Amino acid sequence: MSISANINDFKKQLGAVKVKLIAVSKTQPVEKIQEAYDAGQRIFGENQVQEMVDKYEHLPKDIEWHLIGHLQTNKVKYIAPFVNLIHSVDSLKLLQEINKQALKNNRVIDCLLQVYIADEETKFGLGYDELIELLRSEEFSTLKNVSIVGVMGIATNTNSQKQIKEEFYELSTLFNGLKTAFFRNNPTFKEISMGMSSDYLIAIEQGSTMIRVGSAIFGERTKKPISNNNL
Ligand SMILES: *Cc1c(COP(=O)(O)O)cnc(C)c1O
Repeated sequence: MSISANINDFKKQLGAVKVKLIAVSKTQPVEKIQEAYDAGQRIFGENQVQEMVDKYEHLPKDIEWHLIGHLQTNKVKYIAPFVNLIHSVDSLKLLQEINKQALKNNRVIDCLLQVYIADEETKFGLGYDELIELLRSEEFSTLKNVSIVGVMGIATNTNSQKQIKEEFYELSTLFNGLKTAFFRNNPTFKEISMGMSSDYLIAIEQGSTMIRVGSAIFGERTKKPISNNNL
């Protein structure tokens, strides 16, 4: 199916459940993003800072850009002027840098805390203890230019639907716990970013509010994304 047909298909599926679609456009050329844009898509997710900056410069300015990949502190400054949501906050140090760069740009940047839910060594994210420690810390309470609007997680890359379901259930449960304990009077804490092309249906069933979908919209990626660690 064409990109626009895929976008329309997702719009139909997601309208009823009020789940936001993040079109993951990493490795995709500007022309393909424009095609999705012309079909009405306005939120795009990238995992590379340089790639996101280049695309931001070449595409319509009403696009919302979401950073979904691991973010190094020294790269925050490049996206701070325009990024709409950072899904991948995995340390206090990173959050402090985002706060600093947001302040420089006179804005508040929305962030999700990436939580480690997968049964894999390779996935980034905060462990539960680290997460609680961060939210309780003195340093966190002083940050005025970041807004924590929810959590993000990536399930294990497995064929076991049962395992994926359990991991998403865990993240939902954690979200509810955090809401009660730390964000009770904060209506902006409301997002659970979970679900990709292969598992978004399970994610929605478990309470996802935003899904990050790449290949199911744009087709299989031909270019391998450059590893974040080699930037
Ligand atoms: C690439 C990527 C996605 C999208 O993956 P698809 O399988 O193509 O839908 C979602 N989330 C993150 C963090 C990614 O890096």
